[in-house]
Amino acid sequence: MNTATSSAALPADFASRWVTSMLSTVLGPADRRDGAAESLGELDRQSGDGDFGTNLSTAFSQARREVASTSPQTFTQWMTAVSHGFLGTGGTSGPLFGMFYRELARCTTAPSPTLTELADGLRSGLATVQRYGNAEVGHKTMVDAIAPAADTLTAHAASKATPATALTAASGAAKNGARSTRDIIARRGRASYVGEVSRGTLDPGAAAVAIMLQCAAHAAGGDEPVDVSWIAG
Ligand code: ADP
Ligand code: MG
Repeated sequence: MNTATSSAALPADFASRWVTSMLSTVLGPADRRDGAAESLGELDRQSGDGDFGTNLSTAFSQARREVASTSPQTFTQWMTAVSHGFLGTGGTSGPLFGMFYRELARCTTAPSPTLTELADGLRSGLATVQRYGNAEVGHKTMVDAIAPAADTLTAHAASKATPATALTAASGAAKNGARSTRDIIARRGRASYVGEVSRGTLDPGAAAVAIMLQCAAHAAGGDEPVDVSWIAG
């Protein structure tokens, strides 16, 4: 029996709500360019080369254009639009997030995944990011947020949690993972060139993952609002 059938399916409109939430959170409401990309870019200015905010805005702007021109209907089509947005973007994060969302897109053939399929998709995305980026947990990268989120979602899917509960827990794990990057120095990416200077600053890629998962939890019906104030705090 396919184990995927044992966990709850995400609501049919999950992917459209998730991507819409990420677009408005990252780019800002009404696209005033005052979204989370701004504060995430500031983190990269403090410890990297400063391009992360622009890369993220470019990726989501491209994704929004693809959504407008292709009108995605299924989870796979929505995630593919996000993947294409990132794959057409520069920086290290562009290709890594592009491949991450390509793996997520492949997690189901149904219009919307089950929690187990989504958890497997996160784990495949993590494996791809690690295969290309060669980062482990503790190297101060997006892996520090993706890995605990994937583990938490997998455990909640196995215990038959509701999608809202499971994704809220995964989002919390990603946020804790992102916060843990503040006190370590970067071992991968451009922030690793500055050594001790990166200590004291959150890794922007890990913080971005936590925000993406907050949007996912919100899209699945979670009670917690999407809050990005902790990035700058
Ligand atoms: P660049 O470092 O090339 O300027 P970006 O600014 O677009 O790229 O992205 C920086 C983010 O990419 C970092 O915050 C980190 O999370 C992630 N990153 C960088 N290198 C790696 C890697 N080898 N593996 C995983 N993630 C990485
Ligand atoms: Mg950078």
